[in-house]
Amino acid sequence: MSVSPPLFCKPPLLFGWLNYTLLWNLSHIDPFSPRNSTVLPLGTYWDQYQDITKSNTHLSVAERLWVAWYAWVQNDVLATGIMSFAIHELFYFGRSLPWIFIDSLGFFNRYKIQSNKVPSLREQWDCAKFVLLSHFTVELPQIWLFHPMAQFFGLSTSIPFPSPWTMTYQIAVFFVMEDTWHYFFHRALHWGPLYKAIHKIHHQYSAPFGLAAEYASPIEVMILGFGTVSSPILWCAFTGNLHILTMYIWIVLRLFQAVDAHSGYEFPWSLHHFLPFWAGADHHDLHHEKFIGNYSSSFRWWDYLLDTEYTPDALKRRREKKVKAKKTQ
Ligand SMILES: [Zn+2]
Ligand SMILES: [Zn+2]
Repeated sequence: MSVSPPLFCKPPLLFGWLNYTLLWNLSHIDPFSPRNSTVLPLGTYWDQYQDITKSNTHLSVAERLWVAWYAWVQNDVLATGIMSFAIHELFYFGRSLPWIFIDSLGFFNRYKIQSNKVPSLREQWDCAKFVLLSHFTVELPQIWLFHPMAQFFGLSTSIPFPSPWTMTYQIAVFFVMEDTWHYFFHRALHWGPLYKAIHKIHHQYSAPFGLAAEYASPIEVMILGFGTVSSPILWCAFTGNLHILTMYIWIVLRLFQAVDAHSGYEFPWSLHHFLPFWAGADHHDLHHEKFIGNYSSSFRWWDYLLDTEYTPDALKRRREKKVKAKKTQ
């Protein structure tokens, strides 16, 4: 009886989530048998990992974990979908947790930007419920489309993983691209009708806290989230060089940036003291407090160049400019 090769065993250019060579190396896999009878899930995920380790000692632990995950789930769309959603939830709430403790225990009160507005546990819980509902109803269905989209644009899911240098420079590019997207679309969302219809929800908290980073209308999540997802996709469409792992690390770092920018704390060791163009909580807290200016996400250059900075220095500069203009009239 003739059988068609399993989808994921076809050459990687067409359907590759795994390196074709690797599949040949996995001793228990016959790449030309029907999918369901080739890589049978070996009991638990851990059994799968052990089995792959036996015949692939040249792979790093992270690479073995990765391969075992796809082999164990037996469905690439499901494997990528579950992994993407789990990473998002784990790192969003995981990164918010320390800020909840800091707010509750009052350890760093002297570093709180709006020190008279510490959120209560009740407020944070209400916010978490809203965010969770939005994650499960709005983001989860979209995350499910991630694998087909990644394949369409040629993102690699094979091993070996890219080098740390490749991941670093690509993520730096994504930060710059997303910041640009965020600046213009966030600024547009402050236009009266759009603000009322969409962005007002995010500004419910005039003194933000970590969990409030994704407290927003589903339409806003889609508009601004598009910058986070489309930056790497666009990069891959032009260069043909992007691994899905790099995209995951990028999304995690962007999540950290968003949660930290909403934390409401400004420390002497905050990143912008060392990288003056980094935005941070100092920049975004003022945006929530004043509802105007400081539209960027990660960097300060767009607000500086387009004169929308809202900092004591920028206000002083604007006042001096006005006085000067009056004098010359
Ligand atoms: Zn805003
Ligand atoms: Zn915000």
